Amino acid sequence: MTAIEVTRPTGAKIIAQALQQLGVKVIFGLVGIPVVQIAEEAIALGIRFIAFRNEQACSYAATAYGYLIGRPGVCLVVGGPGVLHAMAGIGNSSINAFPMLLLAGSCETHLVTKGAFQELDAISLLTPHVKVAVRPSLDSIPQSITHAYRNAWYGRPGTGFVDLPADVIQGKPEDAAETRIVPAAPRAGIDPERLAQVGTLIRSAKAPLVVVGKGAAYARSESVIRKLVEETGIPFLPTPMGKGVLPDAHYLNTSSARSAALKGADVVLVLGARINWILHFGDEPKWAPNVKLIQVDISAEEIGKNNGDAELGIVGDINVVVPQLVTALEGFKYDSTSPYMQALQASKTKNEANAAKIAKIVKSPMGYHQVFDTIKRTLNRLSPPEDGNVVYLSEGANTMDISRSVFNVEHPRLRMDAGTHATMGVGLGYAIAAHAAYNHPEPEGRTGPYTLSKKIVCLEGDSAFGFSMPEVETMARYNMDVLIFVVNNGGIYHGDSEEEEQWLKLQDKTSRGELGGLRSTSLGWEVRYEKMAEMCGGKGFLVRTSEELEKATEEGFHARVPVVVNVIIESGSSKKLEFAWQKNNA
Ligand code: ADP
Ligand code: MG
Repeated sequence: MTAIEVTRPTGAKIIAQALQQLGVKVIFGLVGIPVVQIAEEAIALGIRFIAFRNEQACSYAATAYGYLIGRPGVCLVVGGPGVLHAMAGIGNSSINAFPMLLLAGSCETHLVTKGAFQELDAISLLTPHVKVAVRPSLDSIPQSITHAYRNAWYGRPGTGFVDLPADVIQGKPEDAAETRIVPAAPRAGIDPERLAQVGTLIRSAKAPLVVVGKGAAYARSESVIRKLVEETGIPFLPTPMGKGVLPDAHYLNTSSARSAALKGADVVLVLGARINWILHFGDEPKWAPNVKLIQVDISAEEIGKNNGDAELGIVGDINVVVPQLVTALEGFKYDSTSPYMQALQASKTKNEANAAKIAKIVKSPMGYHQVFDTIKRTLNRLSPPEDGNVVYLSEGANTMDISRSVFNVEHPRLRMDAGTHATMGVGLGYAIAAHAAYNHPEPEGRTGPYTLSKKIVCLEGDSAFGFSMPEVETMARYNMDVLIFVVNNGGIYHGDSEEEEQWLKLQDKTSRGELGGLRSTSLGWEVRYEKMAEMCGGKGFLVRTSEELEKATEEGFHARVPVVVNVIIESGSSKKLEFAWQKNNA
């Protein structure tokens, strides 16, 4: 062996260097042979490697991180089963338009078709689901990684996939090509004709509305949207993850009059939101029959979809288009006393009074509203929402739906949930991503105009928590002081039955073979989820009352370890009131 051969870097090192040159600061992964070498080389270069317990959670984390920092989040997994598990993250990336660079190992090139260790044709499997899938040769590593990274990031975000055979990871190329820096994508604006047309339409609207989606949050367009809304006086409605782009407390926010806002609007400017189930497809009866939807989207394919008006659509970046609209609407001020504004105000007053009444109901066991009201009051006292120092991750059917309207979000990108696919199981991976994005000394992207170091709070249903429960150990290993509430009703949706006694009876009947098993929505009764934190150095609390919950929230907020607060709530059917309230607000 000559001296030159000895000092030549391996593929693993070149991969790590390419990531470093692209500005990657964190990798979310789960290693095995041979990708462990890439992880070790990355760590040696100062890149943070967060090792998960399951590829599903780690791929979710990479997508959330991409959303939060505005550049692709990086995920590294083994081939075969690792790729199969990480497909969950690929789906999450494409459905939510979160950018992710996925790197996976694969078997030696010369062993393909022989039944090699973890052999899988990942390129064929993933090609339909990712924006680009590449397998570099030993000599084309940097360009392949750059290509995948750029494709994941540019246009509508999604996944760029790089398949890395063992011989590429372990080999030593003759010369390693340089990695080209990838600048942010160029941004498109609106053509003058369309601008004039849309400007005229908005000026003539009787009931205009701006819808703010998570695309606007991803685009970091908070200041331009605020200018548009405040200069024109047009009310706005955020989607669940568009919450916080403009403060929830803003006087033009119509969230608490959602139904009235949608139904009454005649011209709607949609900024970074698809007209899908979240917006009731733009259809009656939720929307007015002749509503005109002006969609602004970077993706042309989105324009005119469902009930969108293709003739009014704008393909462009919100950050360019909205300032153009502000200019076109100069001098226009929407009448704050219009019948639409009055209807919104009336609906807001009614719904807010109703919500306040429900929050005050005290029960034993507690109900959802009592739980969220207690957590909210305590957290707001410890960290006022205006400061933007709490990040909420929320999932679980009722837990997510009910908490959404309870917790105010005053700054962008401080709330994530199950998203476009209503994916349960994302919460803990998202929490780790948020911790990495917001508490890292050197954030990769611009996470926000407020101070770094935030408290990450998960609001989990007991079912949702179960999907990625082992990641509490990941949090503990990396000293992530995430505060997790498990809202425990012993089941999916409404849980099983109202009382332990009934639950035991049900188990009894099952064991006697009188039933075909427990109900499909049943989970264990009063499972001690808090032990998940205790067993790995975190703190656990089991609470049944508001007082206990308040105390645990406060201690959990100050803790420097992961905390699981197991909140036992009522189960079964005795939540009629809450469901009725929810229905009114849907
Ligand atoms: P929500 O779930 O909040 O309704 P969606 O995920 O359905 O939001 O929609 C987000 C949309 O935002 C996507 O169609 C995406 O293409 C678009 N988008 C992302 N970034 C930008 C941007 N910079 N400018 C305009 N549109 C964007
Ligand atoms: Mg439950």
